[in-house]
Amino acid sequence: MDVSRERFRILPGAIDIHVHLRDLEYSYKEDYFTGTSAAACGGVVLVCDMPNTKPPTNTPNNLMLKIESARSKALVDYGLYYGVPSSKNMLRDVARYIVGFKFYPEDVFEHFNREVYSEILKLAVSNNLTLVFHAENPKMFNYNAPPGFERPWTSEYSAIQSILALTHSILRSESISGVKIHITHVSSAKSIELLVNAKRVYRDRIKLTFDTTLHHLLLDNSLYRFNPGLYKVYPTLKTRLDNLRLYLGLLRREVDALVTDHAPHSLSEKVKPYSNALPGYPGLEIALPILLTMVDRGLLTLEDIVYYYSYSPSRILGLEGFGVISRGAYASLTIVDLKTEWKVNPDSFMSKAKYTPFNGWSLKGKPYITIVRGRVVFENGIVYEDLKGWGRNVRELT
Ligand SMILES: [Zn+2]
Repeated sequence: MDVSRERFRILPGAIDIHVHLRDLEYSYKEDYFTGTSAAACGGVVLVCDMPNTKPPTNTPNNLMLKIESARSKALVDYGLYYGVPSSKNMLRDVARYIVGFKFYPEDVFEHFNREVYSEILKLAVSNNLTLVFHAENPKMFNYNAPPGFERPWTSEYSAIQSILALTHSILRSESISGVKIHITHVSSAKSIELLVNAKRVYRDRIKLTFDTTLHHLLLDNSLYRFNPGLYKVYPTLKTRLDNLRLYLGLLRREVDALVTDHAPHSLSEKVKPYSNALPGYPGLEIALPILLTMVDRGLLTLEDIVYYYSYSPSRILGLEGFGVISRGAYASLTIVDLKTEWKVNPDSFMSKAKYTPFNGWSLKGKPYITIVRGRVVFENGIVYEDLKGWGRNVRELT
């Protein structure tokens, strides 16, 4: 075996701030053990889990159910997002368990509750929590469009405008500033232009950041012709030019993070006519390998991938001790093998969702060892299953 410096590199462990680990009544799609095992295989030491589960994570009781389940099953560390509740009472005592709040399009555009939103903004500022938005305005959807074209770029663009204007006006009227607003899975060129400008326009009250996904960066809407249900995802895939603008945004450090939006479903939920197929795909096992392949091709540097998939995500969420290798930081590290060449085969995924739009891609580079706070949880293709339960809620780490 080649153990030269050129083959293996130690990186701060990868951090993915947008994943769906499902569990509870969606355990047939994924659970905390399979989802965090997929993370470990992918060199990811910390994942932040979304609240659109069954039951949804927007009541204190449902949050406790999730915390209990994650505690016994997680292999890597995790943060939890809280969903928007129907009343202010459901926000009491939840702040110390969560990394932030997730807003879906319906929370803003269908049943917006100003009183609840004001309370969330106050909690966010006083507890260093981040508000993460899925920005798509349902008023702009066109259900007569061909598969994959029903949510045009204008729906994302108009949602970002509305979210920022609304938030800024509430912050001004309540005399609040310094709230962290993060727009996730940004998919189009126009949105990037808008966000780059908005960071400046709203900086008196809002710390604005945004991420994109590997599928929005590397896949485009010509793929919907082949297998629309498989490629179905929200926001929709856009054009090759949008891909290029996202890539330029990475080169210019305009984008703040990369995420997978790991969104597992059972195969039977994907293999359906487009209108009934569920949106999203798993991604945790192949994100870092795809990024390492981009490094091999000269499209990104290792420093870029540490920045977008570890350092900057830890800063967005305020995760002290993660995203860096330094004195006092957690020993959560990823050792990568830069030379191994292999083909993506979803049959070998640890995730329960054994499909991917990147099926058959030839990659160069993969995680070799994943270390979570000093313990090896994955090594050379093997997940250390006896460490099930080693993963901790980051908010409980001191
Ligand atoms: Zn998502």
